[in-house]
Amino acid sequence: MNNIKPIPHDTAGESECEHALKHLYEYLDSEMTPDDEQRMRAHVAHCSPCLAELSVEDLVKQLVRRSCSERAPDTLRVRIREQLTGMAVIE
Ligand SMILES: [Zn+2]
Repeated sequence: MNNIKPIPHDTAGESECEHALKHLYEYLDSEMTPDDEQRMRAHVAHCSPCLAELSVEDLVKQLVRRSCSERAPDTLRVRIREQLTGMAVIE
């Protein structure tokens, strides 16, 4: 992996967190442009709330794929989030 430089939270109109959350699924589905993907990686590398969010959705996605159901129940999402945020440092 190349060195990833953090991108400052000062892009016009849209905060990096908004950008990250808005494009979460594109990232997980590998539908992002390489530039956006780089931006996403750089952001979650130094933003733990977004990294937690990304991890939750990634886990849910894997579990849903494994169980072959249409979509994960919200209870599952909440449970994973609780586990992750329980481990993460909350700012
Ligand atoms: Zn963020």
